[in-house]
Amino acid sequence: MSLLAVGLAALLGAGAGWALGRRREGLPLLAAGVGPHLLPDPALEWLRRIYGALGVWVTELDPREEGPHAERIVDAERLSVAQISAVDRRLERARDQEQSGAERMDSGTLVFRAGAGTAVGVLLPDGFEPHRLGLVEADLRRLLDGVRRRPHMVALAQAQSHDASLESSGSVGLRLAYQLERALDAQVVVAARETLSETERQQASTAVAPVRVVGVSGRGDRRLLDTLLPLHSDLARVARGELPKITVPGDPLGGAVADRRQRSGAVMLLPVLVGDEPFGAVAIWLPGGREPIGALLAELNEALTNAGPRLARALEADKRQADASSDRLTGLLNRRAFERILTQTDPRGPREGAMVYADLDKFKLVNDTLGHPAGDAALIHFARIIQGQIRGGDVGARIGGEEFAIWLPKTSLDVGVRIAERIRIKVGTTPWDWNGRNWPLSASFGVAACPETSLTLEDLPAQADAALYVAKRAGRNRVERAGG
Ligand code: GH3
Ligand code: MG
Ligand code: MG
Repeated sequence: MSLLAVGLAALLGAGAGWALGRRREGLPLLAAGVGPHLLPDPALEWLRRIYGALGVWVTELDPREEGPHAERIVDAERLSVAQISAVDRRLERARDQEQSGAERMDSGTLVFRAGAGTAVGVLLPDGFEPHRLGLVEADLRRLLDGVRRRPHMVALAQAQSHDASLESSGSVGLRLAYQLERALDAQVVVAARETLSETERQQASTAVAPVRVVGVSGRGDRRLLDTLLPLHSDLARVARGELPKITVPGDPLGGAVADRRQRSGAVMLLPVLVGDEPFGAVAIWLPGGREPIGALLAELNEALTNAGPRLARALEADKRQADASSDRLTGLLNRRAFERILTQTDPRGPREGAMVYADLDKFKLVNDTLGHPAGDAALIHFARIIQGQIRGGDVGARIGGEEFAIWLPKTSLDVGVRIAERIRIKVGTTPWDWNGRNWPLSASFGVAACPETSLTLEDLPAQADAALYVAKRAGRNRVERAGG
């Protein structure tokens, strides 16, 4: 076993006994108290030195970050830029196609492994002894495992520093997944049942509670984290109490991610309960298809019993937080949450973007003629149109009675105006009826943008509001740009 393995083992708390099996001369041992932030740079450097490699690569797709993330340590004196980027590209392909193997490159022999959106590779010089390739492959396997666990370790470290009463469902799920993986030597996924908000319940065509993945153990595919399971997948059904504890032969996640490893073998599904009420469920990929018995079964049951009330409490807290930041009528963000998002925009990051303010025209007339409930329904209708016209990173909010704001990060003034125009047209062309009668709706818009109309984000709301006022004065049902 190499020092790299010692490092990873110490890091992951995976039992120091086996890890200290073999030491190599001339290389420092890990100090106690190493943290997840140390991975993988020192690990990459050790690996490079141990094998006299030309370079060591990690490339991963992080669903929480924008785009892929890569780290590499190379011997720049022995590699040209073209040779380095040839390896970059080869590993990106290995990552995307989940390939593992060894391949001759122009610069040396690339040994690589990939899985779950991550690839690692070592570039070995010509003349590397073939009998040591097995060692390299074993270390790569451990490196890949460590890299994939890294975000979990960071999340766990953060979660553990918080008061238990403030746990989120994500930290309860993650801890349970890790605890069970360690105890049962199995891959584990934890899912939680969410509660529909009042608005969602009214609008939804089905009243079935959504089930979300809140924990994935280290060996699992972390692309699953935070995804909603298909409503009729086995794990979702166990989490809602529609199925009892059950062992299934195939994929219990309803194809939530295309992961070959999760499709084969027996998977045990168990509810996470408080009393008789289910709050979630765990899926355990049984090693060798054997169900746990004796002490292992007792440990499993104890872990689930302990997690039940914590998960229930965390889900309640998650829901309170969502309620506090969303507008109850439309489900968009409320003014407070919207302002919070703007002030939290990273001051070091790009601060460009467009701000759209919108206000329904002659809305008082809707209320006066059709009644207040009709007015409420029209607001929900308008909010849905906004939501349908903006993209993932954009933020729509209801900031007043019939006033809405949309923040479009990294969007120019021209594009902001075009999006506002698109929403305006959609409002005019999407029929809205109340009690069987079609009622025409329209809205006016004001658009401001950083840096075109203001060099700071702080002034954008006032500018967009002033432009909206101009649109109203100019006859309504139109889009105006700030300063225009
Ligand atoms: P303008 O074209 O100038 O915007 O005319 P308007 O009638 O829309 O403007 P005004 O601001 O005078 O009226 C807004 C109305 O929106 C007044 C209020 O009764 C109504 N409103 C505000 N919040 C709500 C709500 O939550 N539900 C309903 N139904 N109506 C609301
Ligand atoms: Mg109005
Ligand atoms: Mg108004």
